[in-house]
Formats: sequence, structure tokens, C-alpha cells
Amino acid sequence: MSVEVRTRPFRERVGLTDLLRGIRYGQYCRQVRRLAAMTPEETEQFQIERLREVVTHAYENVELYHRLWRRAGVRPEDIQALADIEKLPVVTKDDLRRNFPDGILSRTYPSRRCYIVGTSGSTGTPVRVFLDLDKALFDFSVNLPQIMAGRRPITVVSASKDFLLRTNIRHLSIVVDEPRAYESLQRRVFPSMKHAVVNSLLSPQEHIEAINRKRPELLMTYPSILRNICMAVRTSGTAVYQPELIMVIGEVLDEPLRKLIGRTFDGELMDVYGSTEAGFLAAECPEHCGLHLLTWKVLVELLGDNDKEVAPGRTGRVVVTDLFNRATPIIRYSGLGDYASRAVEPCRCGRALPMLARIDGRRVDSIVRPDGRILHPYHLTLALEDVPHLAKFQIRQERHDHIRVLLVKDAVVEAADVSFAKDGKLGKTIVQRFSRILGPQVTVDLDTVTDIAARPGSHKYATVLSLIGGDCRPQSGHGPADVRQAECSRQDAGQTSTSNEVHEV
Ligand SMILES: [Zn+2]
Repeated sequence: MSVEVRTRPFRERVGLTDLLRGIRYGQYCRQVRRLAAMTPEETEQFQIERLREVVTHAYENVELYHRLWRRAGVRPEDIQALADIEKLPVVTKDDLRRNFPDGILSRTYPSRRCYIVGTSGSTGTPVRVFLDLDKALFDFSVNLPQIMAGRRPITVVSASKDFLLRTNIRHLSIVVDEPRAYESLQRRVFPSMKHAVVNSLLSPQEHIEAINRKRPELLMTYPSILRNICMAVRTSGTAVYQPELIMVIGEVLDEPLRKLIGRTFDGELMDVYGSTEAGFLAAECPEHCGLHLLTWKVLVELLGDNDKEVAPGRTGRVVVTDLFNRATPIIRYSGLGDYASRAVEPCRCGRALPMLARIDGRRVDSIVRPDGRILHPYHLTLALEDVPHLAKFQIRQERHDHIRVLLVKDAVVEAADVSFAKDGKLGKTIVQRFSRILGPQVTVDLDTVTDIAARPGSHKYATVLSLIGGDCRPQSGHGPADVRQAECSRQDAGQTSTSNEVHEV
């Protein structure tokens, strides 16, 4: 299979829409540079102004927030200082899911003018939100290599770059390439972006081929994909082009993997924390002391069991407020399902941005295919994202060639007739989708259950669970010892569940 990656500039005809979007994008790039350069005092002033604006907008135009806040007895005028955010109730993933579409869409944004993106489902319940065009353009203009690592800017308007945006670096993203994925949003806004995106479902050899053809200065992908690439490079001895900067998103970048990448790639590595619901939240600087929060675009609270902010160094659950999206405002949202702690020490780089020292809970097991390749779990969780009345799920890899999916139905009257049986309409669709992703040699079973219990000692349950920890080496089995070790340490991390966690119907 040949990978379509063009290496020449794309001289496609630029339409009026591209032009207008390109101009707006350019304006946002300038705004982001100004915002990122603000002093802490200016940032706080900006945060409170944006917060009040987004709260007023949500109260007046979004049914979910209007209802929740009325019930809690809070009105927009009660939010005068940043600390007043505590007066607003926390919004959960279930709140967004149950109120989709009309209850979470601002009445000032017709749905046809918005983009719908689905979460990776890494904490179990897939959710969809609306993004308005301005939020999407703003997110693209958050140029992390430039802001965090002092690199040259990237342009996303590749079709029109020659006259709209002269500065450019070559970049390549190896990500989930489906319309509902947040990562594919750039392609939907700027169709010419497809040339810079390679589907993460392709093989590591194809990824290496794409990197060698595109020769990107910036490579963006998931830790699991990078792991596969490193393993393939090291076992096959293939040469791979060395990007200046590699950004990883969507999964935990652990120390063994960091070392493995360091042995394969010379360039700078940047760990980025983001979410479908709110975009980029934090990113590493070249000092690698932790992840700097992007406080000029999101408010991140870390809450303890009493719903109060925890002290620096202590772990709290991540609650996020997006200062920009107006189509589906994200205000005090706990649905990321992550836990994190604030750094106690400031970063050596001297940036005033507060930092996250550690992020937990993004750990999702990977699925290993019969050929030894590791599959980013997002491919499978996304395949369940639009299944109606699916409240929770768990994808369990029981053998290299067998997957069992536990499905929990919504406890609402309308879901009474819904069946996830394998021979039913929905069941067949699910199995077909999984087979397309996993290949025909992998069998898939579906079990409808009443609930999926959390991992022992955790608030969360695994959505993707690998039960083949005893044999987590790639089947080729010829990788260097450090590769296998890195691989095993990852697989072992999710091995705490047993079958009696699940209560069969
Ligand atoms: Zn720093």
C-alpha cells in the first residue's frame, strides 16, 4: 500500500472560503502570540473577562448550563472574580452526552455551522461536542512549537501558504484520520491539510516511509505509534528521517518510552496534554520539568474529594473551563477523567505559566494485533462513539486473536428495545467496524452487562484492557531488550482488573 504524501508545495486553487479562513487564522495566530506573552497579572485579568463572557453566553443560550445553574441558584453576575468559579456546579461527561445535541448547542450557533467532534472515549463514555469555526481556527493557531520551544511558526493553510503565510515548517501528523476525530478537524477546515496527515492505522513501515518522503521538521503523533516506529526502526535497521521536533499527544509518555525515543530520534521531544472537548491544555518546554498550563485559553482546576482545589504536589481530578468555545461551552467540566498534580517548583525556563507535574489516568492499554503491531486504542473507542444508548463499554483483549467488548446500555426508557447482541443490527455494525480495524483473523465477542466496575483503588474503569500481559512481546520477538522492556512495562500497568469486576446481566 503506498502512502500519499506529497513533498512539493501544493498549488491548488485557493477559494474565497480558504482565503477568508486563512485571514482569520492569521489574525488568531497574532492574538495567540500576544496572549502567550502576557504577564501573570494581564493573564488573570484576561481570564476573568473571558470567564464572565463565556458564563453569560452559556447561561443565556445553552439549555444545559441554564438549567444546572438555575437549579444551583447561580447567575452570571455572581461570577466577579476567578475564585467565584467554585459557585458553578461541575459538569460531567454524562451531562454532555445526555443533552446532546440540542441541550449542549448554543442557540446562537446553528449546528450546520459547527463541527462535531467525538472524544477518544479513553475514560469510557464517548461524548460529542460542537465546535464553532472560531474555536477551531483559534486552536489551530495555538502554535506550541513556536510558543513553547521557540521554533518557527507552522502554517495550516498549505494550499495558500505561498501568498497568505510565508513562514512555514514542514510537518506531518500520524493520527486517527476519521471525520469525528479532533485530530482530523484541520482537514475539515482546511481540506488541503490532508497532505500533512497520515492515518495511524497504517503499519510502522508505512509510517517510516511517510516520514522519509515528507521529511517533516515537526512530527506529531501518539506515544504508541512512536513506540511502534521506534521498534520497527530498531529491529529492521531502516533509516528514518530525523524531525527537529516530535510532539506526542493523547496518551501518557512514560520514562521507558522517552528513553526508547531518545535512542531512535535525535530531535526535541514535546509532551502535550490536550482533549477533544477543550483542545490543548498544557505542553512541555525544552526543560522537561513538567507541562506548562496554557492559562490564557483554559482554566484548569485540580479538585479533591471535597470539590476544593488541592495543594500543589497533591493529586486532584482535572476540571477544565475553555475560555473560547461558544458552540458547546465547556465550563467546569470533569469529563476528561484525568488526575494531575501541580508542580511545586517553578520551571527552569523562567516561564510564569503554572505547571502540571504529573498527569495520571490517561493510561489506556493498547491492543496488540496478531502480527505484533500495537494499535492505538482510539481507533477502537471511536468505532463505538456513535452507537446509540451505549452508556459505558470496555474493550478487552483476551488473546492476540480475540477481543471481547462489554457494553452497558443506557438506563432510560427509550433504550428498552435496543440490543447489542452480536447478530442484531447494532451488534453486526460494531463487529464489522472492529474487524475492519483489527483484521479478519481477530474474533470479536459482544457481551451486554449491567455495569463495569472501577479498577481497584481508582475512580476509573479501563475502557481498553489488555489481558495478555504474560506475552506482551511482539510476535516477531527479535526486538532489542530495551524495546521489549518498555513494551512490557506499559502493558503491565493495566493488569489490575479481573473478570469478577463485571456483573453479567
Ligand atoms: Zn518551562
